[in-house]
Amino acid sequence: MTAEIIDGKKLAETIKQEIKTAIDDRKRQSLPIPGLATVLVGNDPASKTYVASKIKTTAALGIRSLSYELDESCPQEKLEALIQELNQNPDVQGILVQLPLPSHLSEDNVLHTISPKKDVDGIHPYNAGLLSRKYSEPLFYPCTPSGIIRMIQSVCPDISGMDAAVIGRSSIVGMPTAMMLSRCNATPTICHSQTKHLDEICRESDIIVAAAGSPGLLKGAWIKPGAIVIDVGINHIPDETQPRGYRLVGDVEFDEAVKRAGAISPVPGGVGPMTIAMLMSNTLKAIDYR
Ligand code: NDP
Repeated sequence: MTAEIIDGKKLAETIKQEIKTAIDDRKRQSLPIPGLATVLVGNDPASKTYVASKIKTTAALGIRSLSYELDESCPQEKLEALIQELNQNPDVQGILVQLPLPSHLSEDNVLHTISPKKDVDGIHPYNAGLLSRKYSEPLFYPCTPSGIIRMIQSVCPDISGMDAAVIGRSSIVGMPTAMMLSRCNATPTICHSQTKHLDEICRESDIIVAAAGSPGLLKGAWIKPGAIVIDVGINHIPDETQPRGYRLVGDVEFDEAVKRAGAISPVPGGVGPMTIAMLMSNTLKAIDYR
């Protein structure tokens, strides 16, 4: 058996095309167009690449883009003052602060400063709180978990009653993904670095989401035959044969996993493009909260 490949790039293109059509319609009707402000602090090359990619996609879809770059040494007060200003700016519907921030800055305080109505990343504690409440809806669902759910539903629209293992419990990926799986009536087990018997939990799961940032952590042999596997990990492995001197791999032992899984997402070309597509989708939605 060879797994169906869940092509995140293709799925993301379809979602982005729908967003572009919606934006074009708004333009035709002279309705307001959403604006996304990106805030980059420092010179981290990966963060620069992610922000550049988000700005490029924003422009391609006809969303207005405002880009702010602050020095590595930027003080907390300056960053928070910029966010307060963006909160008040009627031309800005979404605010994205690229994480991680330099270590002298408090990410928590920065995230608290963003207005929940402009929190297009869906990670403000207000939105995270609503996500965790059974009968509440957050203003925005977090981007990467939303992309993961869309990918799972692309191969299995109804996951009700399925058992799921989520490897990782971060506030932006693992934890909200588990909550969203539960909202879809799956039964998630949240795994982390202290979890005993990770292999056994995985072997019993119909869905596995690997989001640990540990290359090859999920062994092919741990996968229940036919399971859906979403590989969220992005790991840079030194590779002299590549022009950039490294290659990207996920958290899944892909070559073995593909022989057992029913469907699997690749790295690259899986969750990454979906995260950006869901950011654009949230930015379009943000116009409703003006
Ligand atoms: P974090 O480092 O914040 O969290 C990693 C989680 O994995 C922690 O909960 C940690 O456990 C757990 N973990 C680490 N090692 C193991 C292990 N050996 N066994 C079980 N659990 C383990 O990372 P993020 O959630 O931010 O990101 C995870 C990965 O996803 C990274 O590779 C990141 O680059 C990628 N990513 C990809 C995105 C995309 O768009 N494709 C978006 C965001 C992230 P503990 O809590 O005990 O420390």
